[in-house]
Amino acid sequence: KESRAKKFQRQHMDPDGPSNNSNYCNQMMRRRHMTEGRCKPVNTFIHEPLVDVQAICLQGNITCKNGQPNCHKSSSSMKITDCRVSSGSKYPNCAYRTSQKERHIIVACEGNPYVPVHFDASV
Ligand code: ADP
Repeated sequence: KESRAKKFQRQHMDPDGPSNNSNYCNQMMRRRHMTEGRCKPVNTFIHEPLVDVQAICLQGNITCKNGQPNCHKSSSSMKITDCRVSSGSKYPNCAYRTSQKERHIIVACEGNPYVPVHFDASV
C-alpha cells in the first residue's frame, strides 16, 4: 500500500515543473491519479526540491485547519501551482483552472522520519 509520505509526493511534489501552460492542472491531476472515482476539487503542486519541502517539518509547530497541532509553515516562499476544478467540470471529464503563485506553504507532518503527509494551506 502507498504510504502517506509517498501519497504526499504523488499529490503535491513537482520539483521540475511547472510547464508554463494553462493545461498544466488538467494534465497533472490526471497523471497523478487524482481524477479517479471523482475529480479532486482542489490540489496544490510544489515546484521546489523535495529536501526543501521535507525541511519544513523542522520549523516550529502551528495549528492545522482541522485543529491538529502537527502543521509547519515554510520560512521562505515557494513556487506553487494551485489547481481548482472548473465550475462546469463533470466527472469523468475533470477540468481545472491553473494558477501559479509564490507563497509560504503549510504542511502537516507525521511519522519517523517526520515528513510531510498533507498540504494544509498557502499564505
Ligand atoms: P491532502 O490533504 O494533502 O490533499 P489527503 O487528504 O489525500 O491529501 O491526505 C492527507 C493525509 O494526511 C491523510 O492521511 C490524513 O490522515 C493525514 N494528516 C495528518 N495530519 C493531518 C492534519 N493535521 N490535517 C489533515 N490531514 C492530516
